[in-house]
Amino acid sequence: MPTYDFDLFVIGGGSGGVRASRMAAQRGARVALAEAAELGGTCVNVGCIPKKLYSYAAGYAEAFAEAPGFGWTLSEPPRFDWAHLKTQRAKEITRLNGVYASLLKTANVTLLNGWAQLVDAHTVDVDGTRYTAKNLLIATGGTPWVPELPGREHIVTSDAMFDLDPFPKRLLVVGGGYIACEFASIFNGLGAKVTQVHRRAHLLSGFDDDVRQFLASEMGKAGVDIRLSSEIDSISRGPGGLNVMLARGATIEVDTVLFATGRVPNTRALGLEAAGVTVDEHGAIAVDAHYKTSVPSIYAVGDVSSSVQLTPVALAEAMVVVDALFGDRVRKLDYEFIPTAVFTHPNIGTCGYSETDARAKFGKVTVFCTEFRALRHTLSASTERTFMKLVVDKASDRVVGLHLVGPDAGEVVQGFAVAMRAGATKALFDSTIGIHPTVAEEFVTMREPVAG
Ligand code: FAD
Repeated sequence: MPTYDFDLFVIGGGSGGVRASRMAAQRGARVALAEAAELGGTCVNVGCIPKKLYSYAAGYAEAFAEAPGFGWTLSEPPRFDWAHLKTQRAKEITRLNGVYASLLKTANVTLLNGWAQLVDAHTVDVDGTRYTAKNLLIATGGTPWVPELPGREHIVTSDAMFDLDPFPKRLLVVGGGYIACEFASIFNGLGAKVTQVHRRAHLLSGFDDDVRQFLASEMGKAGVDIRLSSEIDSISRGPGGLNVMLARGATIEVDTVLFATGRVPNTRALGLEAAGVTVDEHGAIAVDAHYKTSVPSIYAVGDVSSSVQLTPVALAEAMVVVDALFGDRVRKLDYEFIPTAVFTHPNIGTCGYSETDARAKFGKVTVFCTEFRALRHTLSASTERTFMKLVVDKASDRVVGLHLVGPDAGEVVQGFAVAMRAGATKALFDSTIGIHPTVAEEFVTMREPVAG
């Protein structure tokens, strides 16, 4: 039996890597974790957490605007201090980096700061020092992808958005995915004049079509200038800012251009070839249902290998690997009914299938929809509306799609996701007593189908 320095060597200290190393070490494994940057990875440093903090910041603009309807007088117009928000965010992120470090230390994980590269099936090089391990786990995440275009050097990606200096008074967001929509909404709320350009006819591909259209209309009402079926030709710097030429000939002058046009797996300079680890047609590390790569001792989880790029998914995949290697359970993750939220203004919360996907999978479905002005906005003077939709498999009566565009949508949908995973039927929804007055109660009171 060969002897190794470690039982598990994890490359990447983001969501998946930290979870795997900590839980493996807690089960008695000798674990090392190599991280080239700050602990916590994308989610903590440049993703979920700072994004949500900035979304809260943007929400205050709505609250200030709505307050007079409830009797409040603001003695002075509210002022927004971008530098203060950035400092506060940075403090909180540094605190979280420290929490991760101490969790790993307490669990006895050997933390190595540096760039890790595979050497062979059991060996990793970290900045010139070699370590061996019985098993290796690659959790190196992903990175923003930007197409080639003239003036590419002027653009920024989501990684830079949290620390922009100065605040972009005029922001162009290129892209129509959830990250693009969130930044467009957030910076609109913070006071920027935001234009969003997307090459397709609708935002948010993969989401329910009604949700996509409803969100675009609400974001438009809130002030985002959304230009669909439109592309960027070139970007150049002029005396007043960045001049962005659209493919149809129009020019926009802005301070910052954000390209949120997709992400690619972090596989560069990782030594995949040396170790014999293969990638799929998208450049993601190819894994089987147990996250084993083409090399039996090497595993990969999270954004570097997964098609569902969300923190809770990376965590769950990491636990499957830990349970298989250091527990007594070999299991597969169920990717059906993964709930997710988009922190646009208003938020989206969704679980299960879009109507289109449900029709393709289940055949006959019944659809229930409602759209209304939430109680809060009867006094707030806001014209924001709420949209809710249920998609029900006709044969089994199971609720297979649940969609909400409205306040705190993620908070609402998380609970419904449990019921949906348990196979809840429409009859069960109907027999559930609502909580009044809430937005969420509409999910258990929708009776009249709009399509069947
Ligand atoms: P990561 O968290 O990216 O961690 C990978 C780590 O590996 C990094 O720290 C990197 O420095 C390190 N690394 C890479 N290569 C090496 C190397 N060779 N050697 C050493 N270290 C290396 N998900 C949600 O669930 N909810 C959200 O609201 C949400 N919002 C997001 C917003 C934005 C703007 C972005 C970009 C992402 C968001 N995500 C969200 C997605 C989420 O952040 C990712 O799915 C998650 O972080 C993936 O975790 P991971 O462990 O695969 O990789």
